[in-house]
Amino acid sequence: MKIETIAIHAGTIITDSNRPAIQPITTSTTFEHHEGSLIYTRANNPNRMALEQVLSRLENGEDAAAFSSGNAAAMAVYQALPAGSHIIAPDDMYHGIKKQLVEIFKGIHETSFVDMSDLQAVSDAIRENTKLIWIETPSNPLLKVTDIRAVVRIAKNAGLLVACDNTFATPIFQNPLDLGADLVMHSTTKFLGGHSDVLGGALVTKKKSEFWEKIKMVQHVGGAVPSPFDCYFLTRSIKTLPYRMKAHQQNAMALATFLENHPKVEKVFYPGLPSHDGYEVAASQMSGFSGVLSFTVVGGAEKADHLISKLKFFTNATSLGGVESLIERRAAVEGPDSQTPSNLVRVSVGLENIQDLLEDLEKGLA
Ligand SMILES: *Cc1c(COP(=O)(O)O)cnc(C)c1O
Repeated sequence: MKIETIAIHAGTIITDSNRPAIQPITTSTTFEHHEGSLIYTRANNPNRMALEQVLSRLENGEDAAAFSSGNAAAMAVYQALPAGSHIIAPDDMYHGIKKQLVEIFKGIHETSFVDMSDLQAVSDAIRENTKLIWIETPSNPLLKVTDIRAVVRIAKNAGLLVACDNTFATPIFQNPLDLGADLVMHSTTKFLGGHSDVLGGALVTKKKSEFWEKIKMVQHVGGAVPSPFDCYFLTRSIKTLPYRMKAHQQNAMALATFLENHPKVEKVFYPGLPSHDGYEVAASQMSGFSGVLSFTVVGGAEKADHLISKLKFFTNATSLGGVESLIERRAAVEGPDSQTPSNLVRVSVGLENIQDLLEDLEKGLA
């Protein structure tokens, strides 16, 4: 099956003898004991099984684990590591997950935050107790690109695990497991959900292993699992993911090109622009550049806020990956410890008509 077919057909497990075309939502938290039966919805549920099945097929993995948020998915990886592990993570990392490492795992694990585009810095950060290299590419919010194959080479020489946050690229444009990573993580809240109405996360493993069994244990004993409704809506959204992503990318490319040529814009960060630092690596490991971009506005944070306030079709809100366009000044959201430039605006490019989006920005920047 090709990707569009997988997205539509791999997320269905029908057990009902009426043979509905669409898998119903199984709301029961418990199941009558019988040979091979499911037991309890925290441990497993038909809708979660269907979601995990389509996720592992999309990422070419052997198994998947769905969680109640992207943060919960990432946390399960850190919880599954033995205490005292050292983790290498990117300096430009989704701030909520960075906060887990800095605040929650303080005293349990150690983390080095390094610039992953500097492969020497990655090698130099390895210690005796290093267990995991965490990649995020393209990164949030600077769209920095990490060479997945190269980091995997470094990790494998040292016997380390590699996990990749693939939220921005989605499985449509990038498959880290095919490039050698052991685990993929998603905030399914974003493009996979696609309509800004479901919170969720997932891990996909290339191979079942002892470490993976530990993650599955954290999933069902820890209990940060998605509801059957969440799983249903996600499998439903995933059916259109390949087509949504093509359109997100097309609109994002057009906006990035427009912004790059605008005098009120300092710099555009979009991996699909040949001027972007990570363009060549991105082009070698992604089949598309997805739908998020950032740019810095001439005149500082105040001018950036002014632009945002004038826009009609870009809602000033956090998150990304929905059909509607969103914009936010990222440093204001990340708080006082943010290292993001104060005049940087992040855009999640939606599926509105590109002419409307371009005109809106043109007027806003005028
Ligand atoms: C949103 C996001 C997360 C966190 O996911 P939640 O579903 O909000 O918990 C992690 N990584 C990236 C890149 C994200 O954009």
